[in-house]
Amino acid sequence: SNRRDRKNKAKIQALYERQKSKTDAPLIPSTLAQPITTTTPSTIEKKLISSYQRRLFDLSTDDDDEKSLSSDDEDLSVDSNDYSDVNLIVNIQNILFLVNSMKCPICDVHGQYDFKVTKRLGLSYYISFTCTCGNIIHFITGNRILPASNSQMTDLNMTSILAGSLIGVQRRGLQKFFGAMGILPPVQIESYKRYEDLLFTYIQEVAEKSTEVAANEARTYYKGDDVTVSIDGTWLTQGYSSLHGVGTIVSVADPPKVLDYEILSRHCSECA
Ligand SMILES: [Zn+2]
Repeated sequence: SNRRDRKNKAKIQALYERQKSKTDAPLIPSTLAQPITTTTPSTIEKKLISSYQRRLFDLSTDDDDEKSLSSDDEDLSVDSNDYSDVNLIVNIQNILFLVNSMKCPICDVHGQYDFKVTKRLGLSYYISFTCTCGNIIHFITGNRILPASNSQMTDLNMTSILAGSLIGVQRRGLQKFFGAMGILPPVQIESYKRYEDLLFTYIQEVAEKSTEVAANEARTYYKGDDVTVSIDGTWLTQGYSSLHGVGTIVSVADPPKVLDYEILSRHCSECA
């Protein structure tokens, strides 16, 4: 698995270089990722932080549904009363109802619109609402995250793939969840991999930055390069049957932070 890991690293590096050389602009110029140097978190970052905090909270409490529900609502660190940028799961008939509750700007009649889905890319829909008079209103769900390129990746699809990764399910698992929710399947497997690649590139970049900052903090704490560290390893199951192993080096400082890590995997979406 060492060889695979090296191969994996080379692949990551190549991917990273390729992305870098493509454009000088940030890889994801929209709201999905702000430059790492920004001190005020963007909305999406706040959302991710808050969902992560909630996840931690969930892990640390018993499965008392009612209790965790109410605490969940109160514990939101982001303004829980701000609905200006939330995602809704909505039935398409509800949207049609909304459109038809307004008068057509052309023929001044209401209730004459019908819809047609002209394209669907995972969670992102291209919908045309057409009035009997012929007027068409175009409606798109999700925002493109690489508007400068001809990539059609959207924030909705990216966050769903991130969500899947956080809860440990891949495309098939997400499809099951979507199915139960009455949502059509995620993007096709080839696209799904492209999303994962981009996400992975970003995670690598953030991890590198984070370990760099941690190393500098540890140097400051120990007033030099002689830093005391703690080494930890983890694997999914005991014995030698685990598919994943993660090793971390953590600074013995205040606060302790990850200085380096190594992930070995016999099943990796990157090299599989
Ligand atoms: Zn009309």
